[in-house]
Parts: sequence; C-alpha cells; structure tokens
Amino acid sequence: MNKPILTIVVPCYNEEAVLNETILQLTKIMEHLIEDSLVSKNSKLLFVDDGSKDQTWNMIESECEKNSFVTGLKLAGNVGHQNALIAGLETANQYSDCVISIDADLQDDINVIPTFVEKYWEGIDIVYGVRDSRETDTFFKRNTALFFYRFMERIGIKLVPNHADFRLMSKRALDELLKYKETNLFLRGLVPLIGFTSAKVYYDRKERLAGESKYPLKKMLAFAFDGMTSFSVTPIRFVTFLGFLAVLISALVGGYAIVQEILGHTESGWTSLVISIWFVGGLQLMGIGIIGEYIGKIYREVKQRPRYAIEVDRFISQVKEKERELVLK
Ligand code: UDP
Ligand code: MG
Repeated sequence: MNKPILTIVVPCYNEEAVLNETILQLTKIMEHLIEDSLVSKNSKLLFVDDGSKDQTWNMIESECEKNSFVTGLKLAGNVGHQNALIAGLETANQYSDCVISIDADLQDDINVIPTFVEKYWEGIDIVYGVRDSRETDTFFKRNTALFFYRFMERIGIKLVPNHADFRLMSKRALDELLKYKETNLFLRGLVPLIGFTSAKVYYDRKERLAGESKYPLKKMLAFAFDGMTSFSVTPIRFVTFLGFLAVLISALVGGYAIVQEILGHTESGWTSLVISIWFVGGLQLMGIGIIGEYIGKIYREVKQRPRYAIEVDRFISQVKEKERELVLK
C-alpha cells in the first residue's frame, strides 16, 4: 500500500488564543507520522476559519508561508462547527486518502492520532476517538451528556457514546458521508449510518488549552435538540400517543360524568372544566410545537441552500501549484 495522504481538518472560530500552540503540536505529530512512514509527505493540516472576528485567519495565513504542512480555508461567515467541519472535509477529500477531524482547542488527545492511522492501515474506514473519562468537563456537562446519549438510544438513534467529532475517515467513507445533502447537520449521527468497518480508540479528554468554549449551554441544547429531531420521529409519535391517551381518558371521564348526571349528582363542575381546558390546550400546543419543528426542517431542506461559501481556498491553490511544478519539470 502506498503511504496515504492524510489531511487533518481543524475548524476554528475565534481561536487566536490557542491556535499557535495547536499548529505547533499538530505539526510535531505530522512529522512523527512521516518519520514512521505512516503517512505521505504531502499530508496537510487544513485549518478552516469559520468567520472568526479575531486574528485567527491572519495567523493561519502567516503560518501557511512558513509551515509547509499548514493550509487554510476561510469561510465567508460564521456557519457553526458542523458546517465548518463539512466544508473542510469536502475540500480535503479531493486530495486525501484519509482525513482526521479535530477541534482547535486540543481537548482531544492528539497522541492517539498515530493509532488512528495504524487502524487505517489495517483496513478500517472509520476510527472513532472516544473519551475515556470526562473528569475535566463540569459535573453538569458530564451528566447532561450521559442523559443525552441514553435518551437518543431509547428513541432509536445510533450514536457512539462519548465520541464527539474526533475521528478518522477513509476517502471512500467520506465520499459516502458527502452524499448526505441535509442542511441540519449532526455529523456524529450521520457517520454511523454510513456503514464500513469501524473501530474505537480511547483517550482522556483534557481541559481547553486556552480561550473559552464556543458551546455555551444555549448552543449545546440547540445542538442536542437538532440531533434529536434530525434523526428520529419518535418525539412526534410520543405526542400522538399522548393524544390517544388523552382521548381515552376523557372518554372514561365523560362516561363517569354522564352516569353522575343521570343519578342527579351534578355539581357546578368548574374545577374539572378548567383542568381539562388547560390539559388539552397544553397538549395541543406541545403537539403543534413539535410538528412545527419538523415543518421547519422540511422547509429548510427543500430549499437546498448551500451550507457554506468559501472565500479563500489555499488548499486547492497550493495543490494546483504543486501539480504545475510537476508538469513543468
Ligand atoms: N467552532 C466553529 N464554529 C463555531 C463554534 C465553534 O468552528 O461557530 C469550533 C471551535 O473553534 C472548536 C470546535 O468548533 O475548534 C469546538 O468548539 P468548542 O471547543 O468551543 O466546544 P466545546 O469543546 O466546548 O464543546
Ligand atoms: Mg472544546
């Protein structure tokens, strides 16, 4: 087997505080991989700037001049982690045999990257990085995450527990992933749907190197909700079930009320009336809300809007330059 061209894709949003260290450490890993003959010399680090407002892109550009591994992709605006990642993957896929995605803050242990590549050599198409301990996450984040995975499993969504977006994918797996054209991206739900052989590699998740999390609670909840409604119709079925249950109960209560009426025990009945109005009203609102969520998704999907716009693509221009050099030789 020829040595594979590996591209490590790193989405970055306002990461000036960590970027230099990240580049340094990833470069070292790259050098090791090449020394050990695990990957081709043409392997790259692709930094995707997700519309950062700080110095992130300038830092990537200046690094491109000095460091032959580093290349960059600047998105025209902030499209969020998942979209930035797919932009990087789509770009990298054209010139890579395998691609690894990793966050810019180095919370994931880059020392397992060689193991990822070894698995690739063994013929595995998807290698999931899985967190062994979540000790560095807050108690709250750890438990909500655990609850989330359990819940998702219950409603029939296949996820790899404690796996975020730190993974290796072979070209053919990535080709398949890129066929999913949906706008509501939840990559960790999509990847297990692809199939192919996969493996897990365990590591300890660390603290963020520097800077702040770009995933505050609000974004985290939105992401979890998105994942849920993008993959499963169970929530909507649950509402239907509740509806049936409510109808059944009201029939029983209605029967009881008629009997009371016939026996002449009727009271003014205000309490039960008010309770049922509120109960049924609430139920309807909940149902409408969830149905609305799905309709909103359909609305966004049918428009088939592009998921991102690329402003500068240094990756392709660098590769083209290489090709030109080869032709001229
Ligand atoms: N990120 C991004 N676009 C965004 C938000 C985040 O590209 O709109 C990147 C960010 O730079 C980082 C990764 O996504 O590389 C994960 O973000 P973060 O570490 O803040 O999330 P957390 O680890 O706290 O969940
Ligand atoms: Mg992080």
